[in-house]
Amino acid sequence: MSLVYGPVPSRRLGQSLGIDPIPFKTCNYNCVYCQLGRTAPVTNERCDFFSPASIMTAVEAALERHQPGDIDYVTFVGQGEPLLCASLGRLIRSVKALTSIPVAVITNGSLLFLTGVREELYAADVVIPTLDAVDEATFRQINRAWPSLRIDRIVAGLEAFREEFSGKIWVEVMLVRGLNDIEPVLVPLAAALERIRPDRIQLNVPVRLPAEEWVEPSDAAGLLRAMTILGEVAEVIPAAEGMFEVDETDSLVDGVVDILRRHPMRQRELERTLGHLAGESKDEVIKALEESGYARRRIYRGEVFWTYARGRYGSAGPEIA
Ligand code: SF4
Repeated sequence: MSLVYGPVPSRRLGQSLGIDPIPFKTCNYNCVYCQLGRTAPVTNERCDFFSPASIMTAVEAALERHQPGDIDYVTFVGQGEPLLCASLGRLIRSVKALTSIPVAVITNGSLLFLTGVREELYAADVVIPTLDAVDEATFRQINRAWPSLRIDRIVAGLEAFREEFSGKIWVEVMLVRGLNDIEPVLVPLAAALERIRPDRIQLNVPVRLPAEEWVEPSDAAGLLRAMTILGEVAEVIPAAEGMFEVDETDSLVDGVVDILRRHPMRQRELERTLGHLAGESKDEVIKALEESGYARRRIYRGEVFWTYARGRYGSAGPEIA
């Protein structure tokens, strides 16, 4: 498994070179909309899952392979919650010493109530925390967090981070139809966001298959409601589709599986990604992917998605044999 992947097209960050310091689905949340499936087990322990030296070796190699213009952001993200990486602060500072490309951290923000964790993020340029609801009941319903994580402490952590951090904070709100796109949830969320004062509020909807099949993206009325209640600073992030760059060091199939661990792909995205191959070779790679045991096709809202085979999705979700 590679510790660095991409660049991949990101809805918010353009072409993003991903650094992944966390093993598959290692998280202190178990969000109903998680595109990687259910977290099992949920964990809240910070540690170094991979050696920081090996992560930095992979970053250096990836930066050498690309021209600076190929990458818009170097992003800590991936298969789980990056704040669970105990050396995250050191890694961010090491990347900043290597390149002038801005560094982003995509996080659920749950550990920002800890002073030491906030300090680790100071060297980043952009921090993108998630905040879906600020009432404990809806927070539990959507994010299914580690039991000791309380939303009031998480919000206080975000407020403190805003006071201390000189970079940009873009708060992401993932809107799930009927859960957090309704007035009783949005009004207290708006009040909390007013205190947090993020540079941007980015409204998002689950566009790839979610952990739970019953999850539906907020519809136009829900998005309009959210924009009205959360204020002018809230923006809707359009769905991005594009080419994924496959690391072909081992094999094309391994390279595609490596992307699927972090990012389910639509059938047409997979075909586009393999577009440089002649028709027959493309079919052979797709067949080999099917037979590898590492990838599964699943249907969500009438679309075929390729997912990592270990991803655990809601039992109601049909899987293509
Ligand atoms: S969406 Fe992010 S925070 Fe939520 S379970 Fe998935 S990896 Fe964790």
